[in-house]
Amino acid sequence: MSNEKDTIDTSAETCIICHRKRSEVDKMFHLTPTMCICGDCMQKNFESFNQNNPYGVIDLSQLDPELIKEVMGMMNGGNQPQVKEKKKKAKAQKAENGEEKDAYPVLDPKHLPAPHKIKAELDAYVIGQESAKKKLSVAVYNHYKRVFSGVTDIEIDKSNMLMIGPTGVGKTYLVKTLARILQVPLAITDATSLTEAGYIGDDVETVVAKLLMNADGDVEKAERGIIFIDEIDKIAKKDSVRSRDVSGESVQQSLLKLLEGSEVEVPMDGLTRNPMMRTTTVDTTNILFICGGAFPDLDDIIKERLTKKASIGFGSSLKDQFDNDKDLFSKVTTEDLRKFGMIPEFIGRLPVVCTLQPLTKEMYVKILKEPRNAILKQYEKLLALDEVKLTFDESALEAIAEKAMEKDTGARALRAIIEEFMLDIMYEIPKDDAIGSVEITGDYIRGTGAPRIYMRGVN
Ligand code: ADP
Repeated sequence: MSNEKDTIDTSAETCIICHRKRSEVDKMFHLTPTMCICGDCMQKNFESFNQNNPYGVIDLSQLDPELIKEVMGMMNGGNQPQVKEKKKKAKAQKAENGEEKDAYPVLDPKHLPAPHKIKAELDAYVIGQESAKKKLSVAVYNHYKRVFSGVTDIEIDKSNMLMIGPTGVGKTYLVKTLARILQVPLAITDATSLTEAGYIGDDVETVVAKLLMNADGDVEKAERGIIFIDEIDKIAKKDSVRSRDVSGESVQQSLLKLLEGSEVEVPMDGLTRNPMMRTTTVDTTNILFICGGAFPDLDDIIKERLTKKASIGFGSSLKDQFDNDKDLFSKVTTEDLRKFGMIPEFIGRLPVVCTLQPLTKEMYVKILKEPRNAILKQYEKLLALDEVKLTFDESALEAIAEKAMEKDTGARALRAIIEEFMLDIMYEIPKDDAIGSVEITGDYIRGTGAPRIYMRGVN
């Protein structure tokens, strides 16, 4: 029975029980890579076990050496490495055989979708925001290419992103859609809920715990996931407006190490910490961080810089020109962000900056009807189950868009508006089997008319 690895220098190994060296004993078994037990001590252990063993005497020489290792390791409470290793091997084997079925199938390095394919998928769900979609697709592609190629100087090139745009224009939606396309776990958090360690609130590591939970506890998957931190502008270093009990600057500071990559100890069994919890380590080096925020007043900072730069004496006319510039946010620089209150180290760790545009009326109308899971399509399907055809005329779509624009909360307002007027329709229509189709009009939305209802067999 010669299972020792001849290539390794084993002369220094000693038995953990009798402390004799390898040269002084007949056989030596590894309990862990660094723990050994000699054949004599092993036999004694078994003999003491045999005294109370009703099934007869166990003869050491009859046992499989692997089994001995495992049993002895368990007796010593220290065989986790072997068990873990075995589990890992079995898992790898299963994955190889295609048996491993996961909520998040592994993102395949050989079939990483090219940027134009990622963008095309985003196009199917997100209306407009062309430059953000393009930048996001390229950044994500580069990020995962780097992750899979195993390049070690990732810290320099990591494509963490900053998304700037008003509320409700698709920042979170883009990231959610992206994670779904790539089948990677995603955790979303709000920067305002984060505090520096030691204060009441979530410390920054909590978001990593959330990601691990969303990856079903699989550390490897979590380490390739995406973390979206919303409302990042609320932790700007400003004295007045965004005042909270804990200064935003220190939260920015505590996020730095997560963004650039560090090993974080997180609970395995949920988000709450208690002294008995099991923890595990998650390395954030390959986690893609995307921060988003509306950055109110940033346009004034940009305007001021542009005016100052371009004008000596013609300031007022230039100011007017910038006042009307709808694309002002896209001219943002790191200096503007620093002025806004983001610390330079923080901005430096978000090398890709993209801006999202406010939604226009046309975009609202498109959002209503075009995305793969558009709200109107959902209602049409719902009524189709009752064999009723639901349509919206153009004036209805415009009226809904106008109502949403008044609310100033972006496309988020659309669903609430539609739900309000669809309630009556969804209540009344199933009452009468003779109804074949319903056309929603602008007048109905504005409260000045009724929907057009057609009976079956009548066009
Ligand atoms: P925010 O920019 O504040 O993160 P969200 O991305 O959460 O806003 O948008 C709210 C909702 O509005 C989304 O769930 C989505 O349904 C819709 N929405 C917003 N912008 C778009 C868009 N450009 N295309 C399609 N749907 C959008």
